[in-house]
Amino acid sequence: MPHALAIAGGGASGLCAAVFAAQSGGFSRITLLERGPRVGRKLLATGNGRCNLTNRFFARKNYHGADPAFTAPAFARFGLEETLAFFESLGLLFHEEEDGRIYPRSLQAASVLDALRLEADRLGVETRCGCEVTAIRRAPGGFSLSLAEGGALSAGLVLLAAGGPASPKLGGTDAGARPLAPFGHKTGALLPSIVQLKTETAPIRPLAGIKFEGTASLLDGGTPLRSEPGEILFTEYGLSGPPILQLSCTATHLLEKRGAAPKIALDFFPEYDKKTLSALLYRRVYARPDAELSHFLLGLLPRRLGETILKAAGIAPLSRRADSLTRQELASLTGLLKGWTLAVTGTTGLANAQATAGGVLTRDFDSQTLESRLVPGLYACGEVLDIDGDCGGFNLQWAWSSAMLAVSAMLERE
Ligand SMILES: Cc1cc2nc3c(=O)[nH]c(=O)nc-3n(C[C@H](O)[C@H](O)[C@H](O)COP(=O)(O)OP(=O)(O)OC[C@H]3O[C@@H](n4cnc5c(N)ncnc54)[C@H](O)[C@@H]3O)c2cc1C
Repeated sequence: MPHALAIAGGGASGLCAAVFAAQSGGFSRITLLERGPRVGRKLLATGNGRCNLTNRFFARKNYHGADPAFTAPAFARFGLEETLAFFESLGLLFHEEEDGRIYPRSLQAASVLDALRLEADRLGVETRCGCEVTAIRRAPGGFSLSLAEGGALSAGLVLLAAGGPASPKLGGTDAGARPLAPFGHKTGALLPSIVQLKTETAPIRPLAGIKFEGTASLLDGGTPLRSEPGEILFTEYGLSGPPILQLSCTATHLLEKRGAAPKIALDFFPEYDKKTLSALLYRRVYARPDAELSHFLLGLLPRRLGETILKAAGIAPLSRRADSLTRQELASLTGLLKGWTLAVTGTTGLANAQATAGGVLTRDFDSQTLESRLVPGLYACGEVLDIDGDCGGFNLQWAWSSAMLAVSAMLERE
């Protein structure tokens, strides 16, 4: 007999699950319960309003959590092709960038939300906004869901798609996982990911607002863990920009695990190795021996950045002539230009994060079905689980793949 399905959470994964379930025709009723005033608020803000809905190159290495391999069955069953075919069936075409990031052809996140919302409506999904699920209890024939507004809803099967607490302005909350606690499900620490990094501020104080194209590397005890190229921005608290957001996934886990300060090394000239850069600096000395040192890096870096790095290399006063630079000063300058190191002291927090690292522990869910091992008939998908992806469309891909796996596993139940 077909079951009634209740989905708690009307974000990316909940909406996708509702549509996929409705298209299957395999449920007697589908109710989508959303605590916020509207479905898909976070989805609307994704990709700077453009919605980077997946990435052609997504792979398990882009995912983090206690057990990233937990994602494998979802991605094996609902990978890139299945995801694009699903959205194409809803009317979307795509725009792809060189690094594999895929957006809707309209470059509007609203298109993705509307496609899901309209299809859910067309197929008779009952969507109830302003409707928070506060408790889930076993009941004859399945479950009873208590609602904050009062009353309860009965369902044969429940899918928890409640997301995480990142970006509370857009509806992020840790309330979604609470109904699982009475069943014995545990939630690990909830940490910000894809977020700006705070660093020691004294060396970079004059640089707030300055951007440069370079590479940022995350160091753990001096060992480089990962490097990311792109535009890096100095802020009054530390660093921002796409490479920093990307490294923050790993940095946040390091900060949590060790309590020790990881470091970021900035390479201002990734296109040159140290030797080539050193030769270039020597040529500048010979070409303009009488130039004032405050202009020595003119044309190579923004002026304030150049002066700050010269000072950090111990070169003073900057009113000196270029030909007064010693070998040692030039070596120290080359070293800083290829690897200026700043201690990471924290992040700007969940309020500014795009994703949550941590969540409901995946060890209590079957990765093949996303069904709870503790509560048969109860499933979870998306960011509420302890899986977080890198920046670049990876989090939404997990939302879609996990939603589709959970629904198809429900359809295959005995
Ligand atoms: C600014 C920003 C930009 C981003 N850009 C991208 C991007 O371009 N690409 C990408 O891959 N990822 C991006 N992300 C991350 C991505 O949006 C999330 O990973 C994704 O939305 C997670 O989907 P979800 O369904 O698990 O959770 P959500 O989309 O957060 O949805 C969860 C929903 O559940 C509701 N809810 C919670 N508790 C309850 C309850 N008890 N009862 C009823 N409803 C409840 C919430 O109100 C929310 O609407 C971005 C995030 C932010 C904040």
